[in-house]
Amino acid sequence: MATKKRTTPSIQELEKGILSGDRSALARAITLTESTRSSDKVKSISLLKKLLPNTGHSIRIGITGVPGVGKSTFIEAFGQMLTREGRKVGVLTIDPTSQKTKGSILGDKTRMENLSRDPNVFIRPSPSALALGGVTDHTREAILLCEAAGYDVILIETVGVGQSETIVRGMVDFFLLLVLAGAGDELQGIKKGIMEMADGIVVTKADGDNVKGAQQAKGDALQALHFQQPSQSGWKTKVLTTSSIENKGISEVWKVIEDYQSHADKSGYLEENRRKQQEQWLEEIIEQKFHEQMGNRVIAKMRSQLLKEVRNNKVLPLEAAEQFWKHITRHW
Ligand code: GDP
Repeated sequence: MATKKRTTPSIQELEKGILSGDRSALARAITLTESTRSSDKVKSISLLKKLLPNTGHSIRIGITGVPGVGKSTFIEAFGQMLTREGRKVGVLTIDPTSQKTKGSILGDKTRMENLSRDPNVFIRPSPSALALGGVTDHTREAILLCEAAGYDVILIETVGVGQSETIVRGMVDFFLLLVLAGAGDELQGIKKGIMEMADGIVVTKADGDNVKGAQQAKGDALQALHFQQPSQSGWKTKVLTTSSIENKGISEVWKVIEDYQSHADKSGYLEENRRKQQEQWLEEIIEQKFHEQMGNRVIAKMRSQLLKEVRNNKVLPLEAAEQFWKHITRHW
C-alpha cells in the first residue's frame, strides 16, 4: 500500500493545534521555524505573530553544566515533580558540540526516557548541524511556541562547554548551573563568568558517599560567591545540593526559582530583562544576517580581489574599504 504523503498543515491549522495543546502541531511548527526556505520563514513569522498574545507567561529556566554532571537526570526528577504539581513542562536542548562530533552529547535518545512519556511534557532537542547563532534564534522561537501551547515552565538545557551558556543566559529568566563536588572548577570547564551568570548553583549527586563532599562544594561555592559583584537584579545567587536519583533537594530548587520570580517580578527586573532580551534577539539576527551576507559569493569575491590589491600595494586599505562599502551597499 502506498504511504500517503503528509500534507503540510496550514498556518491556521498549526495555530489551532498549538493553542489546543497538540504536541504534534507544536513539533511541526518548531520544524517550520527551523526551515531555511524563505517561504517557510514568512509562514513562521506569520504564525508567531498570531500566537504572540498567548506567549510570555512561562518561567524560562536555563540549565547548564558539563557532560556527566547530571543534567538529564536532574531534569527528569525536576520535570516530574513539576508535572505532579499540575504544570506543563517544555524542555529544549541546545548542544553546541553536536556539529563537530556528529553524535551529540545531549542528543542521546535514551535521555529523559520517563519524562518524555509524560503527556504534560514536551521535549525537543536542538537541530544538530546549525551554527550556534542559528540554533539560538530558533530556540527563542521554540520558547514562544511552547508557551502558546500552554507550557508554563520552559527548561533550556545546554552543555557547559562553549559560548552557548552566554547565549542561553540571554533568553531565560533564571539560569541554573549544575556542578559536581570535588571535580575542581577547571575540570568542569567552569569559567569564572559562568558562575557569575548563575542565579542558582546546584551541587549534584549529593547521595551515598558523596554527601559530605557535596556539602563541602556548596560551602566553597558560597565562599566564591561572597566576593562576587551583586547582580543587576539584586538577587543573591543561591547554592543547593540535590540527589536526582534519591529525589532530594529537587523541590527546593523550584522553591528558589519561585522566590526569584517573585523578587524579580516585584522589582520590575523580570519584565525589563525580557525587554532587553527582545532587543538582544534583534541584534543577534541582524548580526547573523550580516555575516550571511558577507559570505555571499559576490561579496566574498570582491573582498578577496581587494585583499589581493591591498597586498600588492595597488590600493590603500582605506580606499579599498571605501570601494568595498560602496559596492556592497549597491549590492544590497
Ligand atoms: P548529563 O550528561 O549532565 O546529562 O548527565 P546525566 O544526567 O546523564 O548523568 C550522568 C551520570 O551521573 C549517569 O550515570 C547518572 O546515572 C549519574 N547521576 C545523575 N544524577 C545522579 C544523582 O543524583 N546521584 C548519583 N549517584 N548519580 C547520578
